[in-house]
Amino acid sequence: MAYDYDDQNIFARILRGEIPNSTVAENDYALAFRDISPKAPTHVLVIPKGRYVSFDDFAANASPEEITGFMRLCAQVAQAEGVSLDGGAGFRAITNAGPDGVQEVPHFHLHIMGGRMMGPMVMLRD
Ligand code: AMP
Repeated sequence: MAYDYDDQNIFARILRGEIPNSTVAENDYALAFRDISPKAPTHVLVIPKGRYVSFDDFAANASPEEITGFMRLCAQVAQAEGVSLDGGAGFRAITNAGPDGVQEVPHFHLHIMGGRMMGPMVMLRD
């Protein structure tokens, strides 16, 4: 399946160093940085360094090394932010995909949010 990646999306520009970010952690395959409009005391975005539009694109097409690197960075972030169940009170990890998922930035990213009770899983608004 063909996913149409936009090289001008804002996270692609962050990865190229064209615009600044507040980096939390990084490895060869992924970058974690603070959301510019945080919805919780901890709100970190984890993105792969490869060109993937969405969760399903990444899950279908990323290499095992990319997937492992991405997931390990997520665990590192949860631990560093003190929200991991290894000592912390937990967090919510969500990803939005496409129009129905209300995805704003078309480069796959996982939101890691915590530091407070996150409330109901989904609030629908018309
Ligand atoms: P989504 O709706 O899942 O695509 O979420 C996109 C997220 O990216 C939102 O939570 C925005 O606040 C966040 N965002 C947009 N631009 C930036 C930026 N330059 N640096 C950090 N976060 C950003």
